[in-house]
Amino acid sequence: MKPFDIVIVGGGGAGLYAAMEAMKTNPALNIAVLSKVYPNRSHTSAAQGGANAALANKAKDDSVEMHIFDTIKGSDYLADQDAVDVLCSEAPKIIRELENIGTPWSRMEDNTIAQRPFGGAGRPRCCYCADKTGHTILQTLYEQCLRKGVLFFNEYFALNLSVHGSRSRGLIAMNMKTGKVEAFPAKTVIFATGGYAKMYWNRSSNAAGNTGDGQAIAYRAGIPMKDMEIVQFHPTGLRKSGLLVTEGARGEGGYLINKDGERFMARYAKEKMELGPRDLVSRSIETEILEGRGFDSPAGKYIHLDLRHLGADLIKSRLPQIREMTLNFEGVDPIEEPIPIRPTAHYSMGGIDTDNFGRTVMDGVYAAGECACVSVHGANRLGGNSLLDILVFGRIAGHTAAEEAGKFEPGSISEEDLRESVEDIRARMQPSGHYERYGALREELGQTLALNVGIFRESSLLHKGIQDIAELKERFKKVRVFDSSDVFNTNLQQVLELQNMLDLAETVAVGALAREESRGSHTRIDFPVRDDEKWHKHTLATLVDGKATPGEKPVTMGRYELQERTY
Ligand SMILES: Cc1cc2nc3c(=O)[nH]c(=O)nc-3n(C[C@H](O)[C@H](O)[C@H](O)COP(=O)(O)OP(=O)(O)OC[C@H]3O[C@@H](n4cnc5c(N)ncnc54)[C@H](O)[C@@H]3O)c2cc1C
Repeated sequence: MKPFDIVIVGGGGAGLYAAMEAMKTNPALNIAVLSKVYPNRSHTSAAQGGANAALANKAKDDSVEMHIFDTIKGSDYLADQDAVDVLCSEAPKIIRELENIGTPWSRMEDNTIAQRPFGGAGRPRCCYCADKTGHTILQTLYEQCLRKGVLFFNEYFALNLSVHGSRSRGLIAMNMKTGKVEAFPAKTVIFATGGYAKMYWNRSSNAAGNTGDGQAIAYRAGIPMKDMEIVQFHPTGLRKSGLLVTEGARGEGGYLINKDGERFMARYAKEKMELGPRDLVSRSIETEILEGRGFDSPAGKYIHLDLRHLGADLIKSRLPQIREMTLNFEGVDPIEEPIPIRPTAHYSMGGIDTDNFGRTVMDGVYAAGECACVSVHGANRLGGNSLLDILVFGRIAGHTAAEEAGKFEPGSISEEDLRESVEDIRARMQPSGHYERYGALREELGQTLALNVGIFRESSLLHKGIQDIAELKERFKKVRVFDSSDVFNTNLQQVLELQNMLDLAETVAVGALAREESRGSHTRIDFPVRDDEKWHKHTLATLVDGKATPGEKPVTMGRYELQERTY
């Protein structure tokens, strides 16, 4: 295959914005997007609530500066302040650019773009398209990419970077339709493969494909991961499935109620109540449950999210998808009854370490979106800031790669380079002797993470989690694929995804044990306070000689000094 200028792995919001911007920067470039699902089925399409931008349509006194401060405070001061400046300053431009290319934003009465309140934000600045914001953004971007001539390789599963010395020569991927392993020689590669919270299995709001493949590929190639221990739990996952009820439901005025009928958030965030930041609201719900004020059911303990007082009209017009989901997955109509909810693993703040231009430490390799850690979210992401992150930094990474592609020699990937990936797969497909089943391991991984590396963390629990993951990794060596077909071998794909999740789970648990403090979403019962002296820094995990090697990086400060975080 002729070398590409840019190969983008991932067709979510980050990957598609990167592709669109790269084409705009230099229309002569040869750009490919690879995606293991059809691009418009990427997890971005599940984003309901919206994207933040200080447009000041709803609150006239809102400003970019307030958005910057809310984001830094929300991050518990672990975000890099120069990166947050970029995120919030670019936000109004991004929302308008999307509007110009056809995104149907919801409107206010005066026809300006509507904005709703979101957790941890001082002003209502979340722009939305009913409760289908990600879906509409993704459709708009996909149309633009097709129109501009981006080449799509859909249902291709990325396996590895081809690295020679310290240089990437491109990507190795499997065509899921044929089972063939193919080479994508490229001057530059952008990872935009989304998050890894699906490792928590059914205690996760994420799509089945959010298995951290890009991070694991980069990690195996020696690129450092940053702040992997910091995982966000969203307060309102459906009790049985972990599926998400958007923060927009509380933004529209929904209440959280315990079994004594109390709006208990008054105990934890007197002012912000249900619209406190996610880490705080999740801890509050979990505390209510642990102290016996939750409801009980065969599917586990839970709390009520009550929308009934909002009325049928508002629920049907602003939260239609939520109503459909709760009807389908809990058998509950939120117009008539409260929704049973419990916190759910939702977002990976950590990821591939990049600079503000999307560059990693490896020349010609970039990352953007949830798989990257720039870092704009630090220890806790605010609702509405992730769609913004993938759009702003997807665009920047696309622009940087387009500008820099000319600097790198075109890569070439030989048959020999492909052989290792092919042999790995073949070995998996030959059942012999004692073997392990993929399904059991995947569930055990989710269980140990939810139990031992969950919302409340503690040394003995984390040691247990690390030990369990090590044992699962050992057992994984015996996992075999029993579907021998070459065509859409989804069992093979799941096994490869499990391998990626196991590699990353280790970095999450080891990082969580190392960080002896509580900051944002990372709560240590045995180290309950934030320790700025020892831990105001990013953690790094790099694979050296097959071993996870810890490192660290300073946090970039700016106008805002460290302060206590109260709501
Ligand atoms: C239910 C839900 C609701 C959310 N709501 C909001 C919200 O309202 N506001 C907000 O700001 N954020 C929200 N978020 C977070 C936000 O949606 C995500 O962080 C963001 O969409 C991630 O975008 P992305 O482009 O980085 O990755 P994704 O959209 O996850 O796309 C990843 C892409 O990578 C591809 N890929 C992955 N692995 C491979 C591989 N091995 N080979 C080839 N391709 C691969 C996939 O096919 C896919 O195209 C929500 C998240 C969830 C789960």
